[in-house]
Amino acid sequence: MNIICSTCIRSYFLRIALFLFVFSGTVNAQQTYSVENYSRIMWNHLEMLSELGPRYVGTKGYGKTLQLIRHVGAEFADKVVEHPFVVKQHDGRQRQMVNIEFIFHGEKEDQPVLLGTHFDTRPYADQESDPTLQNHPITGSNDGGSGTSVLLGLAQYLKEYPVSQPIRIMFFDGEDFGQSGTGEMFLGSKHHANFLRQNFQRTWPLAVIIVDMVGDKDLEIFKETNSLASGPKVLDRIYNVARRINIFQFNEKSKYTIQDDHLPFARLGIPSVVLIDFDYPYWHKLSDTLNKCSPKSLSAVFSVLVRVLSEW
Ligand SMILES: [Zn+2]
Repeated sequence: MNIICSTCIRSYFLRIALFLFVFSGTVNAQQTYSVENYSRIMWNHLEMLSELGPRYVGTKGYGKTLQLIRHVGAEFADKVVEHPFVVKQHDGRQRQMVNIEFIFHGEKEDQPVLLGTHFDTRPYADQESDPTLQNHPITGSNDGGSGTSVLLGLAQYLKEYPVSQPIRIMFFDGEDFGQSGTGEMFLGSKHHANFLRQNFQRTWPLAVIIVDMVGDKDLEIFKETNSLASGPKVLDRIYNVARRINIFQFNEKSKYTIQDDHLPFARLGIPSVVLIDFDYPYWHKLSDTLNKCSPKSLSAVFSVLVRVLSEW
């Protein structure tokens, strides 16, 4: 015969609570992902993009890059939205460009966090010292390739390990398009910021995180000064996570002031930051190729982003 006293009941409920606590810990533990797996996935994307060569509008590689992004979106995103736009160039030519948006609904009723990168590559190697090389297009393994690969990998992660925060992943066209002095840069992000401006503010992203040039073998990401002005709390989230999970590639000091796809959103008043390693001697040169990049660098940024998003 069992004697049920109030102390026994209390201890029973305590044991249940403990069991549930341990069990939920087990569930969380099962959520741990294999970073090696995603590292391989992202590196495969980067290899493929690099093999395509130049990937700006009008090139064969551009069409193939769009195909890859669309394929990954169809497989892993809750919804894919394309934002086509026409660019009128300074010489009167018109170009048809497109931003691609992956939507992950999440569970929370909240505004989304937007992660973005440019998928186009620079048509001019204008940092080459030899003037005869300056009109050649770059491969852009790091500049154009690395951010795209990380966010394609992230899309797969978000399908396999959903987070509760609504997320948008944007692949911007035309970031690196125009010849210097034409102002024909950041075309996709400017277009998207205009698109947001025409929509209700309650649908805007809470924050914008741009990744660009994050594949460099000796990756070191300093706090960028425009980002510090626009989204200091977003940077805090990112760097606190990096410190906690020992991702040494994030350096808390600030170093460069960079114009990138975060600025059109920062001008709308949305906290917006760029993660970029600008200490890259191959920037806008023909030598920006796969052998300057490392899967370890891609996974360092990936690991920080997935933790930031799952804790949002
Ligand atoms: Zn560039």
